Amino acid sequence: MKNLQTGHSLRIGVLGGGQLGLMMIQAAIDLDLRVEVMDPSEKAPCAKFTHRFITGDLNDAQSVYQFGKNLDIITIEIEHVSVEGLRKLEKSGVKVIPKPDHIALIQDKGLQKQFFEDNNIPTSDFILIEAGGNISSLGLPIVQKLRTGGYDGRGVQILKTTADIVEKGFPEACVLEKAVDIDKELGVIVARNSSGQTSIFPVVESVFDPKVNLVSSLIAPANINKNTAAKAQALALQVLEAMDFEGLMAVELFLDSDGDLLVNEVAPRTHNSGHHTIEANKTSQFSQHLRAVVGLPLGDVSLLHNAAGMINLLGAAGAYGTPVYEGLSEAQSIPGVHPHLYGKSEVKPYRKMGHVTVTGPDIDLVQKRLLKLRESLCVSGTKEK
Ligand code: ADP
Repeated sequence: MKNLQTGHSLRIGVLGGGQLGLMMIQAAIDLDLRVEVMDPSEKAPCAKFTHRFITGDLNDAQSVYQFGKNLDIITIEIEHVSVEGLRKLEKSGVKVIPKPDHIALIQDKGLQKQFFEDNNIPTSDFILIEAGGNISSLGLPIVQKLRTGGYDGRGVQILKTTADIVEKGFPEACVLEKAVDIDKELGVIVARNSSGQTSIFPVVESVFDPKVNLVSSLIAPANINKNTAAKAQALALQVLEAMDFEGLMAVELFLDSDGDLLVNEVAPRTHNSGHHTIEANKTSQFSQHLRAVVGLPLGDVSLLHNAAGMINLLGAAGAYGTPVYEGLSEAQSIPGVHPHLYGKSEVKPYRKMGHVTVTGPDIDLVQKRLLKLRESLCVSGTKEK
């Protein structure tokens, strides 16, 4: 029997069946929530572990509607989904969290930047350019971002010279941003449930790898002073409140070389920058997301350890075929190490194959352990190209 007080037996549909969905399912088991998943690939990590798995186009309104129409709640693990399909589900009485309007805002990096500006949320200077517009109008260096369709570093590039503009400039509608002199990249995960209760995770610091345009590792709590950490948390909450957001979202920020904080972008869902929370915090981002979605009280998110870190396991350059996790068994002899493999059957260069969390008594030790992991771990494949 369904119990709206505890969430017990509620049917929750998740659009997207990747690793974020997989870890959501792990958290849902504890609450006996019935998670059902739709993903375009029958090989998606969630396929083997969900009550009902449907292959379908996440951007097709009818597929989204058909998948969700008999469910109690619909949520997402990726924001590239049909907002029209979600609006239709909402109209037919399915609870949709995050709200379709919020997903629509975040799908368009241009609307998102405009929202920050309109709500006095500090963000890097920017202009919006129509398809074929003049890319050199904000000077150089600039960061060019496609307004829609980019993901995980694709559709974002830095242009430093006029030659870069000519050779690499995207012709599509885009955001041009002043290149920030970044001291640190920070992340804050915030959540709000239907009663208006909010929760803010401790600030994390991401180490970004420009070669692959992805976050390579992460440290929690961020190695910044208390005042900056408090400001970053306050800013994340300001974004959540300005949007009147319900659910869980990840706010990415830059700390620039002048010590100022700028909001880069938000993701309306669980995020790579919160993977460590499974082992490192009293309530994980996945558990918190489900609590917010179901309308349960939010959990305590304080850290269980003085420090934690996370390293993404990306496919090596040139790696194809069945994944081979080199160095992983030895890594497990390091104290505080906890691997998460996503069960992807094929490796590709820079594909996210898993992550490893490290906890420890202080940041220095966690950083040393992360370094050791970075040197010893590699995801190769049975085929090479
Ligand atoms: P995605 O949505 O693909 O993750 P982001 O907007 O987060 O794209 O940008 C990816 C990375 O590019 C950021 O983590 C940061 O390292 C760099 N970047 C983005 N915007 C700027 C900027 N205005 N100035 C300097 N670097 C930036």
